[in-house]
Amino acid sequence: MQATYLDKLNPDQRAAVVHGVGGADIPPPLLVIAGAGSGKTSTLAHRVAHLLVNGADPRRILLMTFSRRAATELTRRVERITTQAMGTGYAAEALTWAGTFHAIGARLLREHAAGIGLSPDFTIHDREDSADLMNLCRHGLGFSKTEQRFPAKGTCLAIYSRVVNAEEPLAEALKAHFPWCQSWEAELKQLFGAYVRAKRDQNVLDYDDLLLAWAQVMSDADFAAHIGGQWDHVLIDEYQDTNRLQARILRAMKPDGRGLTVVGDDAQSIYAFRAATVRNILDFPDSYAPAADVFTLDRNYRSTRPILTAANAVIGAARERFTKDLWTERESAEKPRIVTLATEADQARYIVDRVLEDREAGTALRDQAVLFRTASHSGQLEVELTRRNVPFVKFGGLKFLDSAHVKDLLAMLRFAQNPRDRVAGFRVLHLLPGVGPVAAGRILDALDLSPQPALALEAVAPPARAAADWPGFVAAMTSGAGWPEEISMIRAWYDPQLDRIHEDAEARRADLLQLEQIAAGYPSREKFLTELTLDPPDATSDRSGVPLKDEDYLILSTIHSAKGQEWKSVYLLNAVDGCIPSDLGTGSTEEIEEERRLLYVAMTRAKDRLTLGVPLRFYVTQQTRNGDRHVYAMRTRFIPKEMLGHFETTSWSPPQPAGTRPAPVHRIDVGAQMLSMWD
Ligand code: ATP
Ligand code: MG
Repeated sequence: MQATYLDKLNPDQRAAVVHGVGGADIPPPLLVIAGAGSGKTSTLAHRVAHLLVNGADPRRILLMTFSRRAATELTRRVERITTQAMGTGYAAEALTWAGTFHAIGARLLREHAAGIGLSPDFTIHDREDSADLMNLCRHGLGFSKTEQRFPAKGTCLAIYSRVVNAEEPLAEALKAHFPWCQSWEAELKQLFGAYVRAKRDQNVLDYDDLLLAWAQVMSDADFAAHIGGQWDHVLIDEYQDTNRLQARILRAMKPDGRGLTVVGDDAQSIYAFRAATVRNILDFPDSYAPAADVFTLDRNYRSTRPILTAANAVIGAARERFTKDLWTERESAEKPRIVTLATEADQARYIVDRVLEDREAGTALRDQAVLFRTASHSGQLEVELTRRNVPFVKFGGLKFLDSAHVKDLLAMLRFAQNPRDRVAGFRVLHLLPGVGPVAAGRILDALDLSPQPALALEAVAPPARAAADWPGFVAAMTSGAGWPEEISMIRAWYDPQLDRIHEDAEARRADLLQLEQIAAGYPSREKFLTELTLDPPDATSDRSGVPLKDEDYLILSTIHSAKGQEWKSVYLLNAVDGCIPSDLGTGSTEEIEEERRLLYVAMTRAKDRLTLGVPLRFYVTQQTRNGDRHVYAMRTRFIPKEMLGHFETTSWSPPQPAGTRPAPVHRIDVGAQMLSMWD
């Protein structure tokens, strides 16, 4: 009875699932390293279920993966498997410690704030907030004025982030990844010092801090033992995309590796640009030797043979690779397609035509996905989908949360939680009429000096033009109302301001109402803000940020966000040089190799049908310093002529609209005809 779920696994998978489980001891460190679609995530889910079935306490299992969506999917699978095995299983919620590294870090830091020199009401900055704070520091030091070509705020943040996540000295990081900024080393050092002090003074943490602070507190052996001791089992998916800090955290939590299970695929490592290192997975057996056990899987269950063969060819040309080629038993006569098109607009039309055709033939929209290298590349497609009323959800793109009014409301909540958060403070105070940067700075300075900033707000004398709005503002910000009443109060204050600030106030009003509804689903303000900051909801075609009522929708996703997922039919936009590989990087071999793996990840998302679009006139936005430019594109270099045999190559152009056909040759004498009516 209990073994039925094991019967569905192949022998290699089963061996990994049961390895070391059920004995008196915590299992030894375990690595599953294998190619795309070989069942790594399935194996991980089964292993968690197997632990539970064998009596493990779900609260003593820590499950980490790269997105909240993936974590939710994983815990649901565990629920299904345990239910099948035991009649009544473990509800997904029983696994209370499942999430992303960053979300788990945030939770631990807040829980232990008092003991580690943090204030538990800290707020978390997303990348944009962090860049804004970096900019404030940049201005504060005068670098932006005196040094004309000083790196932009985003570049400064990227450098800082690299140094932190890769644990790399600044000079090395600059030399290897930002050579054009090397002459600014001294200034950058000063800037980063100021940035770190500003975060501390303002009681804010950025993304990187969630890992950095976690790693730092783990250097205290007692504390590390206390934290690590909370869990008997720590299981991690997509391990190839972790960075050095993450590896260090794991090591500190589980020094001998007992209870540790990591799974991944070095051929799918695509986050080196964010300082992830494939060394973590490749060195795992050695760093936990001799206890560590390694399992590999070699059968792909996802894709048809022609798709797998083409994907194997692409990755086969990689310079370095540990995982071996996969095999499959899924036969099909259909090769993956490369379609050449004149323009991106044609590409969009072609794809929407095919998507709708396949839906007619029985493939639901949600079984189809369109992938792209960069979020901005789906613009034309979104227009075409909207024009033809095809609902879609976009992963990893511009978010509902990025719109100004939503950010305003979230900033107000953050400011209410932590009045020392200056980025939030500036944003919020600017909403008041007559408050510019100087007045806002003065008000925030007054709050900084006060031991009780929330109360100090009441004592502030606002600029004359803001006087009428001020009492209502202060009341909303310091209401002390519980959750979610607080967000209603804040929205009520913000509502009349919308008409003053925005022309399309009505549409924005509807968004904010929806945000309030989303908020009501969270137990507390901190949880709401943390989750939204770390893992914002996906954008949908009606821009609401909440699941569409029409349950069937097409998925649009960056390749990075499509990691780990699969669809019956997958389209890849812009399979051209300049896009994959992107021409934005330094062009180093490592960067190019990462782009090859990215193409491999994209191709291996497809189960039955794979289509690569090659628009010859490829419009690249946000491309050069001087603005946009057109690029005449060529098929990606990762599919050279010799590989074309694995594909079906075609071209497509839209049917000519009826009005533009050449006129018929015979002439009609209109005048004579008109006259004939009266003759
Ligand atoms: P990726 O590298 O893309 O993350 P993966 O190795 O994690 O892929 P899974 O997503 O776990 O692979 O599995 C791929 C597909 O194969 C899923 O649809 C899964 O249900 C199916 N699958 C895995 N193992 C088996 C099996 N033993 N029998 C039948 N189907 C399987
Ligand atoms: Mg997976």
